[in-house]
Amino acid sequence: MSSITPPTPGVTPGITPGITPGSITPGATPNPITDGRITADLLCVECEYNLRTLALSATCPECGMDVIVSARGDHLASAPAHWRHGLSRGAWWLRLGVILAIPFVYPGILVSCLGLWFLTRAQPHRDEPALDRSFRLTTRWVGGLGGAVIVCLALGALIALASGGQRLFDDWRYNGLPIFDVLWLVAHAVWVLGLLSAWRYLRVLAQRVPDNDLATSFRGLGRCWVWAVLIVAVINGTTFGLIQLNLLPGGSTSPWVALALSLIHMVILTSLWVATLRVVARQAAVLRAVADDG
Ligand SMILES: [Zn+2]
Repeated sequence: MSSITPPTPGVTPGITPGITPGSITPGATPNPITDGRITADLLCVECEYNLRTLALSATCPECGMDVIVSARGDHLASAPAHWRHGLSRGAWWLRLGVILAIPFVYPGILVSCLGLWFLTRAQPHRDEPALDRSFRLTTRWVGGLGGAVIVCLALGALIALASGGQRLFDDWRYNGLPIFDVLWLVAHAVWVLGLLSAWRYLRVLAQRVPDNDLATSFRGLGRCWVWAVLIVAVINGTTFGLIQLNLLPGGSTSPWVALALSLIHMVILTSLWVATLRVVARQAAVLRAVADDG
């Protein structure tokens, strides 16, 4: 079937001219990307505008579609059917996991991780661009496996509490080093980084459909997550600082402070959940269509 061409220096591997109808004869064109710029004739997959001379990060001047979507010639439709079915299955599990995440946070995380695991399997016999590979592997090991680690931590804590280990647990948390709390926070922070990598990698898959709207949605989702993390960090950091400086009326024991913080977190988490669900549901539909296509 298809042969693997070794990467040429200065040329992005895995991104080859798409087979497009019209005046440009496919095959005769060399790889059109040099140093992040289109250097040969390449038609926009949406409107067939010639994207030559444009930067890979630019958008089509005619229809606004991302240039990289047209530049990615390795469309998912030409990938092996069993691998495409794996992607579709992964997207299905990811969507189910996100649905479950409110109110069943940890079962939801576990199911989502299974989805990420399926979504990040390497495509057989494909010369994958180095950056795409880094995001795929980060998503797989940090997002997929990291999620499983925090579920184990949660389960461990639950078992410790249920088996009458409350006193031991409290001793561990409050009298010595707060090992569990630190581990808990670090594991969650690392996992969120894995998720940010996931949204970046799933954008690559969307570009390969090619589906510009879905790719743009994943970029927006990534930004939403970054903003949410920043806002939560600033609010919690400020509250912690005010409590330490005794500037908060009622101090750390004030029920109003706890209520306000819970409400703010609830609003942020719910908005993030709605945004994520919308994008992963769309992705599941798109990848299902790609899998069913031939
Ligand atoms: Zn266009």
